[in-house]
Amino acid sequence: MVIRVKKLKCLWCKKTFNGNANKRFCSLEHKNAYHNALRKKETEQIGKVVTILKNNRRILEKALNKKEVVSLKEQALLDEGFLFRYHTHNRINQGDGKEYVFCFEYGYLRKDNGWCTIVKGKK
Ligand SMILES: [Zn+2]
Repeated sequence: MVIRVKKLKCLWCKKTFNGNANKRFCSLEHKNAYHNALRKKETEQIGKVVTILKNNRRILEKALNKKEVVSLKEQALLDEGFLFRYHTHNRINQGDGKEYVFCFEYGYLRKDNGWCTIVKGKK
């Protein structure tokens, strides 16, 4: 078997090294450092979104105040810092057959008149 040795550039330290053409790092340490940095960035990005989702969930939980259903103006949620573009999933509510947007176990239905209905999803 012929191994093609080429001049390569390490993705981590950017230094050149000689190696097999499919190598991307000058050492195992630099391979690990590169992947750890990627993972750290990913975790930070996910963390930001999770924080927003948890905040949304807390606002819905507070608005529902242990009731089964609550109607209130969207503005009341916005005033608390609710961000409508962050949610976890959608589900058709068996009660009214409408599609609710959820942040974890709390869901809401936005209406045309600026009001929304908040529910707690069943497990
Ligand atoms: Zn390197």
